[in-house]
Amino acid sequence: MTETESSQSLSATMQPPPLLTVKDVTKVHRQGEVEVPVLRGLSCVIPERAFVFIVGPSGSGKSTLLYLLGALDAPTTGEISFGSLSLNRMTADERDRYRREEVGFIFQNFNLLSTMSAVDNVLVPSLPQGTSPEKRQEAVELLKRVGLGHRLTHRPGQLSGGEQQRVAIARAILKRPKLVLADEPTGELDSENGRQIFQYLRELQRERGSTVVTVTHDERYFEEGDVILEIRDGRIIPSS
Ligand code: ADP
Ligand code: MG
Repeated sequence: MTETESSQSLSATMQPPPLLTVKDVTKVHRQGEVEVPVLRGLSCVIPERAFVFIVGPSGSGKSTLLYLLGALDAPTTGEISFGSLSLNRMTADERDRYRREEVGFIFQNFNLLSTMSAVDNVLVPSLPQGTSPEKRQEAVELLKRVGLGHRLTHRPGQLSGGEQQRVAIARAILKRPKLVLADEPTGELDSENGRQIFQYLRELQRERGSTVVTVTHDERYFEEGDVILEIRDGRIIPSS
């Protein structure tokens, strides 16, 4: 090996691996007898600490990709890696732990538990590990952080859509996940509330150094430095 080659390979190995690497992933959904191919050899890289938008026409597989990244579903073929760990090759227990500890989910329709207060909703994902007064205090602080200090004991039905989604953000972020996945988190909100949701997501992402991967139809939410992944015909199209 020449000196140049060896220094190149050295610098290549010194690069931290991306947070997520998606390689040649296909996904075929099955509806009874019918096979619906959705992802057709999709590859992409999601850097650490990035703010990533997945865009594409309705039905193009944006939610499908998000579910695969969160290991809520498995690819038909291909591989997804989290750092140097392959999600496909994890045991069921390891995958459970990945979902529980590394990933925070935010859904379009909030998915809050209607009988529980805002604080208790934020604490729900921590229940398997057990909660503590410190954890509860952290949940309160997070709710204050997203402007809900005066809504701590309200139930979801007593909150507006924008407020419910802010509870969902606090819930997703409490365990300090490396990865936050948000499927059209502003889909049910008006543009002012939508803007605010992304503002909170960006602030928390910066403060906590997490990576956010989110789906939106609205280009107005894009900012300089964001990673935009556009799905067309089951693949990511190269950005111009
Ligand atoms: P998007 O989020 O971009 O609108 P989806 O990922 O939800 O798209 O869906 C992509 C395609 O796969 C759609 O045609 C949808 O009907 C189909 N699909 C999604 N989930 C399933 C499923 N669980 N079973 C069968 N088909 C599905
Ligand atoms: Mg979708």
